[in-house]
Amino acid sequence: MNEQLSVEIDRDSCNGCGICVDICPLDCFRIDEDEKAFMKYDECWYCGSCTLECPQHAMTLRLPYPVRT
Ligand code: SF4
Ligand code: SF4
Repeated sequence: MNEQLSVEIDRDSCNGCGICVDICPLDCFRIDEDEKAFMKYDECWYCGSCTLECPQHAMTLRLPYPVRT
């Protein structure tokens, strides 16, 4: 896994439901041949929707340092 991506996905937890693919306003995600989500385009603007809506809690947002609280 690329540790630099904006969203880390726990492949063991992901069930391939596709919610993140549908919900991301920047269309960042796709489902791979193993039915796991992956970040195809890292255009993330850190809205947080994917991490909130993932039913498996498989997604972790990596906020860039300047916007961490
Ligand atoms: S919403 Fe979560 S469980 Fe569903 S495909 Fe995306 S990462 Fe996997
Ligand atoms: S935080 Fe928002 S913009 Fe970033 S990948 Fe998730 S849904 Fe897409």
